[in-house]
Amino acid sequence: MITCKEYVSSRKEELKQEVSTFVRQPHLVVVQVGSNQASNSYIKSKQRVCDDIGIKMSYCHVEDYQDFSQYDLESLVSDLSNNSNIDGIIVQLPIPEKYNVEEIQNCIIPEKDVDGFRRDSYFEPCTPKGIINYLKANEIGFPGKDVVVVGRSKIVGQPLVNMFIEKGATVTCCNSKTKDVKRYTHEADIVVSAIGQAQFFDDSYFKHGQVIVDVGINRDEDGKLCGDVCMNVEEKAKLMTPVPGGVGILTVVTLAENTVNAYKTQNKQDESLWKGTK
Ligand code: NDP
Repeated sequence: MITCKEYVSSRKEELKQEVSTFVRQPHLVVVQVGSNQASNSYIKSKQRVCDDIGIKMSYCHVEDYQDFSQYDLESLVSDLSNNSNIDGIIVQLPIPEKYNVEEIQNCIIPEKDVDGFRRDSYFEPCTPKGIINYLKANEIGFPGKDVVVVGRSKIVGQPLVNMFIEKGATVTCCNSKTKDVKRYTHEADIVVSAIGQAQFFDDSYFKHGQVIVDVGINRDEDGKLCGDVCMNVEEKAKLMTPVPGGVGILTVVTLAENTVNAYKTQNKQDESLWKGTK
C-alpha cells in the first residue's frame, strides 16, 4: 500500500516538473480574516507545499476586521478575482460569523475557485478529491463496493458521497441523528469518518480488512492532534489514513493541483505559457 506521505511526495514531484515548464509561476492567493490558530498552521503548510512545487503563494490578511464590512470583504475578493496575474484564490475558513461565507466565496470566479466551493466551480473540492485520488493510487476500486461516509458537511461529506456514487459505489451517509452508526460502519468495505470528534470510533465499529479514511482533525485530552478513529484500529484495517500525515496532506497537494490546472485553464488561449515553449 502507498502511504499518504509517499503519494503526496510523488504527486508534488510531478507537479514541480510540470510547473518548471511554465513561463510564469502559477499564483495562488490565500485570504484570511481574523487570526484563527488552526488556520494559521494550515496556511503555513499550504505555503510549504506551494514553495516545494514552485507555485507563488500570496497571503492577504485582514487581521483587524472590526470595521471591515461584508461589502469591504466582497470588494477585496472581487478585485483579486479580476486580477489577471492571479490564477487561484481561497478564503481560509472559518471566517468570523458576521460575514456571509457563501456570498464571499461567490465573488471568486469559477475559474479561480481552487477550493471548489462554488456550485459552478471549475474544480472539485480538495479534501474529497484528494481522498478519491489517493484510494485510486492504491488501486481501490469503487464499483460494487459498500461505502459509508459519516458526516454530511458541504465541504467534505456531501461532495464525497456524490463522488463515490459517480464512481459506481453503493453509498450510505450517516449524520448525528443516525440511529445506529455502528451497524453501517461495521459492514462497509470503505468507511470515511468526517465528524470532528477526537477518537470517537473505537475498534468495535470496524471489522477486519476495511479501508478506513479518517478526515477528522481534533485534539486529544493532552492537546495532541488526532483523528476521529482510535489509532489501534489500524491493526485490523487493510488501509487506514493516519492523523496527522493523512487526509490533511492529501488536501493541500490537491489544492496545489487545482491551482496548476487553474493556471492552465486560464492561459488556454496562449498554450506557449504552459506547454514548455519558454
Ligand atoms: P462539520 O462540523 O461541518 O460536520 C460534521 C458532520 O459530522 C455533521 O454532518 C454531523 O452531523 C456529523 N456528526 C457529528 N457527530 C456525529 C456522530 N457522533 N455520529 C455521526 N455523525 C456525526 O465538519 P466538517 O466536515 O467541516 O469537518 C469534519 C472534521 O474533518 C473536522 O475535524 C475537521 O477539522 C476535519 N477536516 C479535515 C480536513 C482535512 O484536510 N483533513 C478538511 C476539512 C475538515 P449533523 O449534520 O447531523 O450535525
